[in-house]
Order: sequence, then structure tokens, then C-alpha cells
Amino acid sequence: MTNPPPLPLRLIRVTEVRPVTPRMVRVTFGGPDLGGLSLAGPDQQVKLFFPRRPGTEPVLPTPGPDGDVMRWYASCAGLPEADRPWMRSYTIRTHDPSAATLDVDFLLHAGGEEDGPATRWARRARPGDALGMFGPSPYFATPVAPGAADWTLLVADGCSLPALGTVVEALPPGHRTVAFVQVADPAEEQKWVTAGDLTVHWLYEDGAGESVPEAVRAAAFPSGSPYVWLAGEAGAVRAVRRHLVEERGYDRRSIDFAGYWRRRLTQDDAPTPEDLAEARERLEAADGS
Ligand SMILES: Cc1cc2nc3c(=O)[nH]c(=O)nc-3n(C[C@H](O)[C@H](O)[C@H](O)COP(=O)(O)OP(=O)(O)OC[C@H]3O[C@@H](n4cnc5c(N)ncnc54)[C@H](O)[C@@H]3O)c2cc1C
Repeated sequence: MTNPPPLPLRLIRVTEVRPVTPRMVRVTFGGPDLGGLSLAGPDQQVKLFFPRRPGTEPVLPTPGPDGDVMRWYASCAGLPEADRPWMRSYTIRTHDPSAATLDVDFLLHAGGEEDGPATRWARRARPGDALGMFGPSPYFATPVAPGAADWTLLVADGCSLPALGTVVEALPPGHRTVAFVQVADPAEEQKWVTAGDLTVHWLYEDGAGESVPEAVRAAAFPSGSPYVWLAGEAGAVRAVRRHLVEERGYDRRSIDFAGYWRRRLTQDDAPTPEDLAEARERLEAADGS
């Protein structure tokens, strides 16, 4: 009998911190655990573990020899609260295999008392700080296939902008792609190098212009069948997906969608009924049922 594959759990250490925009900070991580990391494509998601005490390493249980991920997560959840690291989802923005480093872009989304633990950590990150990283992993990765359809539609907000960047940079030459991205203000816009034929519609959170669902609803799209990638605030993602399936008649199996965050809720809060409905719809779409 072959041994189960080891869990993709690593300790990563900050080597550099620099601003991308006023509200986005890029943190480069290195460390011996990153040797041998290879990415299976764009949109590689990880779970990051943030230590309870600033400047210390996160306390993480040692994975069992059975490689059972659920058992490992359960032992994490069973740690005393004073030790238990906060777990948050992030995206590998870039990976440099020759230097064995990777970048994660953190949106500094709140400010003051409202900062969650990940944002608080990112505001103060310094070389030498350590995080735990689980993944990338088939346990939660969705293979993204930009270029597989007639054209591609991308919808993102500030915190899914790093993931959108990886998808845009992987577009095949000349592939028609339309993106709607909502950020706080024009200073948050980013530019990418892409071989694709990309049009980006930037929307701002100042409340004066259209919301993302309104802008998508009003748009004239290319003909043919799209591949659709939607990520951002859960309510907006749901509204756009519903419009695309129910009003435009797009095939729901060609729509990858994920609520990245929920208003007034943290990633420690229990899933809402809408979250559970979203999870069910993702499974149904994956089954083709
Ligand atoms: C698959 C996946 C990949 C992700 N990749 C990235 C990434 O690469 N970079 C990145 O910055 N984020 C990314 N996110 C989003 C990130 O996980 C959340 O924003 C997370 O809530 C941040 O944790 P926190 O501790 O700062 O806030 P939490 O403790 O989770 O929440 C604290 C408060 O902040 C609010 N909040 C949380 N996120 C946002 C937001 N984006 N905008 C406004 N208010 C918010 C909550 O509603 C809550 O009131 C990703 C999420 C998923 C699911």
C-alpha cells in the first residue's frame, strides 16, 4: 500500500513588504519549505494561518501519518483559543521557483478597530514574520480554464483583484476578455501584462456610479459562449451569477464563482444560509446536474 501524500502545510517567512497601491500591500515570502513548490495554473488559493501573538510563529498541529486533512483541521480547531491561529483564504499572486519565493497581495480593506486579524497582520508585516500556509491543494482549488470558451468574462473586487491578475496574465494570445472590477477609487487600479485582448471596466465604491451587478446587467457582450469567473463580495457574486444564468441564459457549468467575503461577518463566522446555498450550487454545477 502506498503512503498518503503529505499535507501541503508550510511555514513561510516574510522577506519583503512593498505597497502596490494605497490599499494593497505585496508581501514576499521565502523559507526552506517553499523549495519544490509548483503551481498548477492561475488562481491558486491557500489558507494562511496568522499567529495570535505578533512576532511569534503560528502554533500548528503536526499532520498525522494518515494524511487526513479533516482530522488535521479538527486538531487545529481543538487548540486552546489563546494559541489557535486565525485562518484566512488568500491567493498566490506570483511564484518564483528559482528563488523559492512567492508573493501574496493583501487588501487593507478596513482600518482601525474594524480590521480583521489578517489585515491587521498585513499592515504591520516585517521581514522575518512567519505564517503557516496550507495549499495550494486540490482540496479547494478549482482548475481555471481561461481561453476554453469563445470569450471570457471576469468580475472581481479589491480582494479578488490578485486572483484576477493571475487569470489575466494566463490568457491565451488574442483571447477576447471583458473584466468588471470594483475598487475603492481610481488609485487602486492595476495594470497587467497579458497576451489576451482585454477590456477592463473599472467601477468605484464611492456610491456615485453603477454597482457591479448593475454594470454587468447593462453591458453589451461579445457573441458566443463565455467562460465566466466571478469572485468578490458574496451578495454581488450571487446577483451577477443569477443574472447571467437566468436572464442571459449562460450555461451555469461554465461559470466559476466564489464569495470571497461577507459584509459584517468574518471568516470565523459560521456559514450563512446563502453561503450554504452557494456551496450547493457549486457542487451541482461541478456535477453538471
Ligand atoms: C479563495 C479566496 C482567495 C482570496 N484571496 C485574497 C487575496 O489574495 N488578497 C486579499 O486581500 N483577500 C483575499 N481574499 C479575501 C480575504 O480572505 C477576506 O477579505 C478576509 O475576510 C480577510 O480577513 P481579515 O482577517 O482581514 O477580516 P475578517 O476578520 O474576515 O473580517 C473582518 C471585517 O472585515 C470585513 N471584510 C472582510 N473582507 C473584506 C473586504 N474584502 N472588503 C471589505 N470588508 C471586508 C468583514 O465583513 C468583517 O466585517 C480571498 C478569499 C477567498 C475565499
